[in-house]
Amino acid sequence: MNEMKKFDVAIIGAGPAGMTAAVYAARAGLTVGLIEAGAPGGQMVNTFEIENYTGFESITGPELSMKMFDHAKVAGAEYVYGDVQKIVPQADGMHLIECGMNQFMARSVIVATGTKHRKLEIPGEAELAGRGISWCAVCDGAFFKGQEVVVIGGGNSAIEEAIYLSGLVSKVYVIHRRDRLRADTVLQNRAFADEKIEIIWDSVPTKFTVTEEGKFQSVTLKHLISNEETDLVVSGAFIYIGNDPVTHMLDGLGITNDAGNVVADGHMATAVPGIFAAGDVLEKELRQVVTATSDGAIAAQSAHKYLEG
Ligand code: FAD
Ligand code: NAP
Repeated sequence: MNEMKKFDVAIIGAGPAGMTAAVYAARAGLTVGLIEAGAPGGQMVNTFEIENYTGFESITGPELSMKMFDHAKVAGAEYVYGDVQKIVPQADGMHLIECGMNQFMARSVIVATGTKHRKLEIPGEAELAGRGISWCAVCDGAFFKGQEVVVIGGGNSAIEEAIYLSGLVSKVYVIHRRDRLRADTVLQNRAFADEKIEIIWDSVPTKFTVTEEGKFQSVTLKHLISNEETDLVVSGAFIYIGNDPVTHMLDGLGITNDAGNVVADGHMATAVPGIFAAGDVLEKELRQVVTATSDGAIAAQSAHKYLEG
């Protein structure tokens, strides 16, 4: 039987937080397992353009992902495919990392699993997922070339992706539940100046109608002040209503808050010795690439100090 692979630090998730933690931990001389369930880059992989990561006035998400990934590998981190299901602290101070068939042991762990997109939970959404409803404009926008679509949400993601889509489609309706956007002013101003973008204020979708052939037909919108409902016939919908933390592998450890975010101190240390966290998965205010990388650097430094006793 193969002996279980052991690392000084196991980093769960290869988004910007995990990849930066990998660079710092490997450069500190630790053996690093960077365990990822999908493609390296995390949410950056599906972001068309990043304009606020210092040093790059503009860089595509996939390009920045590959730069960080190459950096982590050159620094000496070992990339391992694995969907981590459970982290079990052991009596001897080690941590068992369970990923289905695969298992690893680590002296310390950095949780950098980020978030996953939220769903509206309204009729028609499940049936049309991937067949007219998408959570990724960069992946699916091209299917709607020259057609009309809706974007739901008023945050940075919704507005940024509405601007991206307007370069492909004939019209973008942004559906927002209030009369003011949450997105940064620079993005708001770009959207307001874009003739292909129309914002439908104080409204929420209540249902997606599916044709007999199982295709997207329309979205029903409810105006929250008049309570009036109208059907908007478009070709598809992109949903950007926020994200929830990915922390199921921490169940039972008592280090998450009611919303599921990991609670850590300024050293990125959780209440369980040897377990640190970084990036969007944390309970924190500003979720950005630059803050994720910063958390990753601090978490790696703290793991190093912890291992040195
Ligand atoms: P993530 O990027 O979410 O990475 C987490 C990684 O962990 C993923 O690769 C995931 O597959 C992996 N993972 C999860 N669970 C497991 C598991 N059980 N086992 C193994 N691996 C696992 N920020 C900016 O600064 N500028 C922007 O322009 C910008 N644009 C954005 C556009 C969109 C559409 C979105 C959604 C976000 C955008 N952001 C932007 C925010 C930014 O992408 C995030 O703040 C950042 O990616 C968080 O990094 P992270 O490493 O914490 O998590
Ligand atoms: P977000 O900031 O949480 O915004 C979610 C939006 O969806 C809000 O406008 C919210 O309305 C709306 N919403 C929430 N639930 C809804 C529901 N059930 N029905 C209808 N509308 C609903 O999420 P995000 O835009 O995905 O951003 C996530 C994080 O990534 C943020 O920290 C953001 O700054 C960051 N990000 C940064 C950039 C960038 O820097 N360029 C780009 C993308 C994302 P209310 O406004 O009324 O709450």
